[in-house]
Amino acid sequence: MHTMDLPLADVPARTPRSAPVANKYQADKLAKRLRHQVGRAIADFGMIEDGDKVMVCLSGGKDSYTLLDVLLQLQKKAPVNFSITAVNLDQKQPGFPEHVLPEYLSSIGVDYHIIEQDTYSVVSRVIPEGKTMCSLCSRLRRGALYTYAETHGFTKIALGHHRDDLVNTFFLNLFFHAKLSGMPPKLLSDDGKHVVIRPLAYVREDDIEAYAETKGFPIIPCNLCGSQENLQRKQVKKMLVQWEKDAPGRIETMARALGDIRPSQLSDPKLFDFLALGKRGDDALPNAHAWLAGTAAEAEPVAMALHPVRNHDGLDILKS
Ligand code: SF4
Repeated sequence: MHTMDLPLADVPARTPRSAPVANKYQADKLAKRLRHQVGRAIADFGMIEDGDKVMVCLSGGKDSYTLLDVLLQLQKKAPVNFSITAVNLDQKQPGFPEHVLPEYLSSIGVDYHIIEQDTYSVVSRVIPEGKTMCSLCSRLRRGALYTYAETHGFTKIALGHHRDDLVNTFFLNLFFHAKLSGMPPKLLSDDGKHVVIRPLAYVREDDIEAYAETKGFPIIPCNLCGSQENLQRKQVKKMLVQWEKDAPGRIETMARALGDIRPSQLSDPKLFDFLALGKRGDDALPNAHAWLAGTAAEAEPVAMALHPVRNHDGLDILKS
């Protein structure tokens, strides 16, 4: 039977990595922890303010269901008024059970919209057979969602990335792009038009798995189209899982480190004015050319006027 034909309860769920939540007490504790972590992230990064129109991007995976569920709970007691609309992009992947999300969203009474756009045909036409399609697929998805947000006046776009995604992306950039850069909890899109927020930034993936299980969300797997995620991401995930196994708590330690950065203890002169550090006098320092040529070269001004610029991930960095 094709997945599209499956009744709601039969939509395959992801295999939970964590132990199932044993009783109501534990389930309540888990729900409370998630609300606490999401509330803290919202406050720490100023993610939501009075009058915001928040578009929650819903893929049908455990992360976005959890995000929507926890935000709806927090909305009831929030110190500010904001609206929530769940938005899903039906990308027309073969096997996508298109009835699942409308049925679920109607059952909980949340405002929602399903965008229908056949990005799947585009991706499968452009990407050679056997190659991973996820990167282009995600880019097209992002484009469609951002366009919808802009035309409908949403002030915030909420995504379901969690703590483990943030750590994972950090290592991907470190190992494969030689960059200390990650996935920030809040960012301005490259065109400056959208504020993207990730309220699950402090939440562990295995907590989300356990939560999704207790809530019985009708999970739609993201691999219905048969594409595999890219090899580098897989390698990093495998490494992190092994590290966590060898030293429980290591992912949490690394996630905390992402929020405790000391530019003066790294080696990026764009972030920290090493030239001015301990400098005696006002004379300009010789530049690299002068040092390499071994001549008393014309000095270039070295005093750095630090001003913020944005890197490609939307993070503010300082640049001379
Ligand atoms: S698994 Fe398929 S639907 Fe999911 S991101 Fe990759 S290409 Fe897109």
